[in-house]
Amino acid sequence: MNATKAKRYTDLNGHLKGIFGKRVQKLTVDAGFTCPNRDGSKGTGGCIFCNEKGSGNGAHILGTSVTEQIHQGREALFKRYKSKLFLAYFQAYSNTYAPVARLKALYDEALAFDDVVGLSIGTRPDCVDEEKLALLDAYSQEKLIWLEYGLQSPHDTTLASINRGHDVACFKSAVALTQKIAPKVKICAHIILGLPGEDREMMLEGARLLADLGVDGVKIHLLYVIKGTPLDELYLSGDYTCLEEDDYVETVCDFLELLPPEMVIQRLTGDPHRDELRAPQWPLKKRDTLRRIQETLEARGTVQGSRYMTENAPQ
Ligand code: SF4
Repeated sequence: MNATKAKRYTDLNGHLKGIFGKRVQKLTVDAGFTCPNRDGSKGTGGCIFCNEKGSGNGAHILGTSVTEQIHQGREALFKRYKSKLFLAYFQAYSNTYAPVARLKALYDEALAFDDVVGLSIGTRPDCVDEEKLALLDAYSQEKLIWLEYGLQSPHDTTLASINRGHDVACFKSAVALTQKIAPKVKICAHIILGLPGEDREMMLEGARLLADLGVDGVKIHLLYVIKGTPLDELYLSGDYTCLEEDDYVETVCDFLELLPPEMVIQRLTGDPHRDELRAPQWPLKKRDTLRRIQETLEARGTVQGSRYMTENAPQ
């Protein structure tokens, strides 16, 4: 992407730089959590697209503590980006799925570093309660706290078909409870485009839902097929067809136009591991997809929020 051109959406890097005055880099931490959709509490098989690592990097299994992971991560991110401030990103599995005392110990460990300016915590909407949110509320008085809820689809039929183990109402309740108990905590929703059975209009309903709920950020993912998952079986048997890049780019642009201009865009495509990926292959060239999204918005003459402003204009 041409760095001299202003992005046509509110990206996370720019947003963080606006708050802290310098680059802030997410530093991934694997704290050894599990997932209720795998351990039998909600289900056993997991979501149909998820591999057993649950987005983990394996650091916890190797016995690397949160403190050690942060030491290693800071060094690597400084070398790569020259970044000196970090958000500790609890990413793997469901990072509020534990008793509050354990959560507090792990989050405290990350926040003990002066240059860790906050936390980003990925979880499921059925893994929070008032006590956990009160803990996050306390942190949010002094630190930047993002809570990332996986919604994936705004349609209950899709959530059932991908074996998600929660419905849309559960997501709405979690958002409302967070806004009530921890109003300074920023909420980021994860949405997947290209889920089985969804056409473009169905996907775009996700943008309208997030705008209505007033969440602060979104991660837009592409559904891709990881080898060995239930989705892989569907793909190999011809029962699932991946989105083409053209279709994805147009849908993302539509999605961005429907969001409020200030909503922080934390991700715009998938980031598959080459060795695990079955299909499609185009997400391996992530920069090309990001460039095409920017160029498509430029060609349309639109930005994030263009249609949101029109659809929500006073009558
Ligand atoms: S909730 Fe997350 S970790 Fe659990 S099965 Fe689904 S994608 Fe995997």
